[in-house]
Amino acid sequence: MFDKIVIANRGEIALRILRACRELGVKTVAVYSQADRDLKHVRLADEAVCIGPPPSAQSYLNIPAIISAAEVTDAQAIHPGYGFLSENADFSEKVSQSGFVFIGPRPETIRMMGDKIAAKKAMIAANIPTVPGNGDSLLDDDEANLALAREIGYPVIIKASGGGGGRGMRVVHAEAHLVSSINLTKAEAQAAFGNPTVYMEKFLEDPRHIEFQVMADSHGNAIHLGERDCSMQRRHQKVVEEAPAPGITHEQRTAMGERCAQACRDMGYLGAGTFEFLYEKGEFYFIEMNTRVQVEHPVTEMITGFDIVKEQLRVAAGERLSITQDQVRFTGHAIECRLNAEDPKTFLPSPGLIEQFHMPGGPGIRCETHIYNGYRVPPFYDSMIGKLIAHGETRASAIARMSTALSEMVIDGIKTNIPLQQQIMADAAFAQGCQNIHYLEKKLGIH
Ligand code: ADP
Repeated sequence: MFDKIVIANRGEIALRILRACRELGVKTVAVYSQADRDLKHVRLADEAVCIGPPPSAQSYLNIPAIISAAEVTDAQAIHPGYGFLSENADFSEKVSQSGFVFIGPRPETIRMMGDKIAAKKAMIAANIPTVPGNGDSLLDDDEANLALAREIGYPVIIKASGGGGGRGMRVVHAEAHLVSSINLTKAEAQAAFGNPTVYMEKFLEDPRHIEFQVMADSHGNAIHLGERDCSMQRRHQKVVEEAPAPGITHEQRTAMGERCAQACRDMGYLGAGTFEFLYEKGEFYFIEMNTRVQVEHPVTEMITGFDIVKEQLRVAAGERLSITQDQVRFTGHAIECRLNAEDPKTFLPSPGLIEQFHMPGGPGIRCETHIYNGYRVPPFYDSMIGKLIAHGETRASAIARMSTALSEMVIDGIKTNIPLQQQIMADAAFAQGCQNIHYLEKKLGIH
């Protein structure tokens, strides 16, 4: 195991990584921006290095500053968390070239998954079901593109190969708009991602979002830890996540999970990863792979009792996976509510001073947050200030526990989305489960 690592992130995930390190006896170096001196993990870390001014581009995305922090503190590895540099292949490459271990997959894997066309082709080769459409980049051949769309069937979606964060895609409902939509998406992709390559696939109208968690070591072993349902979304941002996904049978879980694990073995995947699928009419369609730990990893941890972050450290240090597939057990149901510093109606960010904070508790409740009484939420970063996770024997008991926990939670001084989360937990259709990715926006009246 490592002696000391750098945590190249902030907020709740930095604290989560720090806790995993402490359990494993690994010393920690926090790197922080000038706006983040008061972050909880910065106070708790063995060492802390300021890496620059508040804007992310000058701090949490500043590759030389982060690598220098590892050098001056004599750390051995860097954990990127999620967001920021976690899926930046150049960063992982520079980390390795500088003599440190990047806690995540190899740069080639990150690069391939960051390119949607390359990722889709790799999945087709690995026998993972993808959205109808061959995944070839579209040429400047209007006739061929029209023929392809006819073959796939409208509506189709034009997606930028280099796109991300829900940007760089356009839905086309009728042939009359196809050519102009392709040209527009290409121009936008060039401007936003520096890469005009686009491809076409079927647009699924009412899918659910279901994803599989995998974990692989450097000895050729890979396991899956089941699936999560993340269909409660607003503007492609997940709001509530849960595991297992309602209505998914043991046979479906085992079959899809094993295919994902096998794909990891085939491509020499290393570390934690997630295969994201759209799920419609009983079929899974791959959309992307995230090559990092995800915000919603705790729901999987709660139903499996398996610590994903500690395992990330172990496999990065060259150890074998600590469990085999047969040892993975699923118990009960877990739900996660993301807690955002935002107005629950307008969704505008609400940074500022936390005047009062009371954390809920009781059986099955887990609270992952870096906030505390007197902490000031800075305006520079993502508005997520934590996550509340509830585990119960059944989905209904997890929802009941979550509702109680939300009602106990006090965050004064700033606005939060707790009222929205309470509304979702009390919603009759949510209680039924199996809602699609448009449900929340429709319920909220946002179109
Ligand atoms: P990004 O990397 O930008 O997050 P994804 O490929 O993961 O891009 O897609 C983001 C979201 O866009 C999906 O969660 C889904 O809501 C929607 N989407 C993408 N592809 C399709 C598709 N073929 N049909 C329907 N919706 C899609």
